[in-house]
Amino acid sequence: MACSAFHAVPKYSSINPARARIRVVIDELKDIYVPVRAGEYTQAECNGRNIYVIDGKEYSECSFCGASCPSRNYFKEPDSGLPLKCDMCEDEPPLSEPMCVQACVFGALTYVEREEEVEEEEEVRGEMEVGLEVLVNKHGLKKVKDAFARISKG
Ligand code: SF4
Ligand code: SF4
Repeated sequence: MACSAFHAVPKYSSINPARARIRVVIDELKDIYVPVRAGEYTQAECNGRNIYVIDGKEYSECSFCGASCPSRNYFKEPDSGLPLKCDMCEDEPPLSEPMCVQACVFGALTYVEREEEVEEEEEVRGEMEVGLEVLVNKHGLKKVKDAFARISKG
């Protein structure tokens, strides 16, 4: 409900859990509640057919999948059928925590920021290395070195 209200236009003007970007797999008898956030849109069903067994009950791979997928109606805007994806409640100014976390008074959902700086650095270094490799392959190491020397002087 919190998710759909936050994303309503205008904001908080309506509540419709069918528009939520999160759903909870529920087995009340076994007291199991597993939140699944909406992920990427996919044009076709995947081949994943794993079966998960929790307390003796079987769940299909689709049960815990966040995809907006043609195999089912989850994570689709009910009127238009357009895919819904969790955007972590992006807002300006940013929220202290996403709405679903704020609304979860029992603390089943927590919000933790993930450090990604190292990955980004590696990605940039990777791109530079690929670019340099292309230049070296095309012009030879000496020419590339000479060019760098000229640029650094200039
Ligand atoms: S819902 Fe997920 S697991 Fe199931 S077919 Fe679609 S993409 Fe695959
Ligand atoms: S983080 Fe925001 S957009 Fe994502 S499921 Fe929670 S309330 Fe919805």
